Amino acid sequence: MNLNLIEKSGYEIARDIKDKKINPEEVYSFFKERIDKYNPRLNAFIEAYPDFSLSSSQNSSLFGLPIAIKDNICIQGKEITCASKILSSCRAVYDATVIRKLKEAGLSLIGTTNMDEFAFGSSTENSCYGPSKNPWDTDRVPGGSSGGSAAAVAARLVPFALGSDTAGSIRQPASLCGVVGFKPTYGRVSRFGLVAFGSSLDQIGPITGNIKDCASLLDIICGPDKFDSTTAQAGEQNFTEALGQDISSLKIGLPKEYFGEGLDPQIKERIEAAINFFKKEKVEFVQVSLPHTQYALPAYYVIACSEASSNLQRFDGIRYGQRAQGNKLGPVYEKSRRLGFGRETKRRILLGTYSLSSGYYDLYYTRALKVRRLIKNDFDRVFKEVDAILTPSSPTPAFKIGEKIKDPLKMYLSDVYTISSNLAGIPAASIPCGFTKDNLPVGMQLMAKDFDEEIIIKIADFFQSHTDFHQKIPQLK
Ligand code: GLN
Repeated sequence: MNLNLIEKSGYEIARDIKDKKINPEEVYSFFKERIDKYNPRLNAFIEAYPDFSLSSSQNSSLFGLPIAIKDNICIQGKEITCASKILSSCRAVYDATVIRKLKEAGLSLIGTTNMDEFAFGSSTENSCYGPSKNPWDTDRVPGGSSGGSAAAVAARLVPFALGSDTAGSIRQPASLCGVVGFKPTYGRVSRFGLVAFGSSLDQIGPITGNIKDCASLLDIICGPDKFDSTTAQAGEQNFTEALGQDISSLKIGLPKEYFGEGLDPQIKERIEAAINFFKKEKVEFVQVSLPHTQYALPAYYVIACSEASSNLQRFDGIRYGQRAQGNKLGPVYEKSRRLGFGRETKRRILLGTYSLSSGYYDLYYTRALKVRRLIKNDFDRVFKEVDAILTPSSPTPAFKIGEKIKDPLKMYLSDVYTISSNLAGIPAASIPCGFTKDNLPVGMQLMAKDFDEEIIIKIADFFQSHTDFHQKIPQLK
């Protein structure tokens, strides 16, 4: 069999399928064998499906390719765990809308990926299945919470995967693993069938080896959905049309709040190198200010925990997953939740319940919503002046397993650069832009105004057409 499949992008493999050089089942077995070989080292997958299946013959641009799915997105008949003990052996009874769309486009589902429990975390260490490993250095985390998806794509155990992003969970692991991660505008992609974390923040998006595959996947998964009333009626989009375009007249903002204290100097250096590359291509850069950035993290943790505490009430041991022993309702609820939820999940439920309680609601929750509006206003003002914003995706490269897990505040800071775009609802992506001296990947973040994913795709594609950072593959020992 053609062993170069790992050096090919998804769209190149799809072209080989179209030209009948290889068939979808052979592609599936190729990647399934890689999963069997390398997953014991990476722990990127929770489950890999042994059998190939394809439910459509529709000839989409990615027809016949396998895709991995973060384990908080429902696939009919398959286990959905959210990496939580409370959901062990729970099976989804329907397909999420994104899954239905992938199946209709002729992609095959190859398995589910590891994550922080219910997507709470930035390292995948909060998984009841143990942490995923970063394929560039297996002593390090792949980021989180979609760390399994990012590690799987980086190691080319699969050409691409879906993740979910509430405050950076697609972009931060993509950055730490050297792959592309895209959080679309709030409302672009249906969340029907996504296990809710923070419903006013969550978006599903692709994690891919390159921006072309990403644009093709966005074409497939975006669009209004009658099962998710928060989806926008934004009309049909063709994201792949944004590929291959000129970027010379663009104006990009550099927010000064994203380049200050806490930014690793090696990351700063790689981001500056990317900026210099664009400058040579006649892209104009201006310094801008998003003055409420410093309040994004505290506002996010109030809002996200409040929403999570409410969303997680449904896991009571009765309706889904594991039920504790007992014959009295109250104690069964309590015991199921005590045994089923991990530490971080309990912390979030407690924080959220506190900030929503009467007497504290206005002090915390309402105030956080007001801060959120100020953050959105900052972006609205800046996007009157620039086409896009460029920042680092993460303040540090991949950190060591165990390094931050005992200090939640340190862990929460991993998302300082990615949180604001979820609060504002705007699209944002992480694009590989280099490596540290220790050969750890660095990502740059591109943000745009609501529903302007095209500009991000345009800039990223131009960058990837002139650089090869996205083509580097980690050596797996
Ligand atoms: N790391 C952030 C958190 O722990 C973001 C998670 C996410 O985007 N799902 O809440």
